Amino acid sequence: MSAQLLDGKSLSEKIIAGIQSQVTKRDVAGLAIPALAVILVGSDPASSIYVRNKRNACIKAGVRSISYDLPATTTQADLLALIDELNREVGVHGILVQMPLPAQIDPETVIERIHPDKDVDGFHPYNIGRLAVRMPTLRSCTPYGVMRLLALAHDDLKGLNAVVVGSSNHVGRPMGLELLLAGCTVTTCHRFTKNLAEFVGQADILVVAVGRAELVKGAWIKPGATVIDVGINRLDDGSLCGDVEFAPAAERAAWITPVPGGVGPMTVAMLLENTLQAAQAADKRMA
Ligand code: NAD
Repeated sequence: MSAQLLDGKSLSEKIIAGIQSQVTKRDVAGLAIPALAVILVGSDPASSIYVRNKRNACIKAGVRSISYDLPATTTQADLLALIDELNREVGVHGILVQMPLPAQIDPETVIERIHPDKDVDGFHPYNIGRLAVRMPTLRSCTPYGVMRLLALAHDDLKGLNAVVVGSSNHVGRPMGLELLLAGCTVTTCHRFTKNLAEFVGQADILVVAVGRAELVKGAWIKPGATVIDVGINRLDDGSLCGDVEFAPAAERAAWITPVPGGVGPMTVAMLLENTLQAAQAADKRMA
C-alpha cells in the first residue's frame, strides 16, 4: 500500500474533544447545554447501533442527549406531533430522526417537518438549498465530514476534478454541492451513468457513496488521487467493507479512507458540531 490513510476516527476524536471544551465554556458562562433529541422508531439492528453510537458520542462531547425510542407501529401523525413538540421546546437545539423509518411513515414528510434551525442532520430542503446558493448553515453531516477529511490532505481543492459516485439526497447530492463550493469541477455519477470507470479515472478527488461492496475497482483509480469511501457494506462473514476495492485502490491513490474508521466517525462528529452550532444560533436569536 502506498496511499496514506485519512484517519476519521482520530480526527473525529479531536473534534469531539474540541466540542466538549466549548460546551464546558458555555456551561461556565451560564449558557444552555446543547441538547439533541434522538428519535428511533422500531428496532432495526443497524439503526439501533447507529443511534447508540450517536448517543455515546453526545456523552463524550458533553451534549445532552434526549432519547425517544418509539414502537415500530408508531403512526406518521404521532411522529409528526412529537416533532412539532420538540420544534417548540426551547431547550432542544437539534432533532434527529434515525432513518430508515417503517413503511407507514414517509421520510420526506418527516424531514420537512423538523424546523430548519434544529435540522442537525442537514437534510431539510431549506438547508440543502442554502448550501446550493453558497450560504451554508446546518450542513449534511456525511458530506461535511468528508470535507473535513479532505482538508487533511489538501490545503486547497480549487480546480481539482472531483467525481462523486452516488446521488442520494443526503449524501451524493450535498457532497457535490460541498465540492462545488470548494471550487472543484464536479461530476456526479449514479445508477444510469454509462462508463463509470472512465469518470472515476478522471478524478483527483473521488467520493463513492453507493452501498455496493467493492463496486469501484482499484485499477480505475487515477494515480495520486484522494479516495473517500462512504459505503458501509456487511459481508457474509460479518466483516465490513466499503464501495471501493481497498487494497488495489490504496496502491494507486495518494490518500484513502479506511472502512470502518474513515467517514463513519466523522458523520457523528459533524452531528455534534451541528448541534453546538444550532445552540449558538439559538443564543443569538434570543439575544
Ligand atoms: P442510496 O441507496 O440512497 O443511494 C445510492 C446511490 O448510488 C444512488 O444515487 C444510485 O443512483 C447510486 N448507484 C446505485 N448503483 C450504482 C451503480 N452501479 N453505479 C453508480 N451509481 C450507482 O444510498 P446512500 O444512503 O447514499 O448510502 C450509500 C452508502 O453510504 C451506503 O453503503 C450507506 O450505508 C453508506 N453511508 C455511510 C455513511 C457514513 O457515515 N459512513 C452515511 C450515510 C450513508
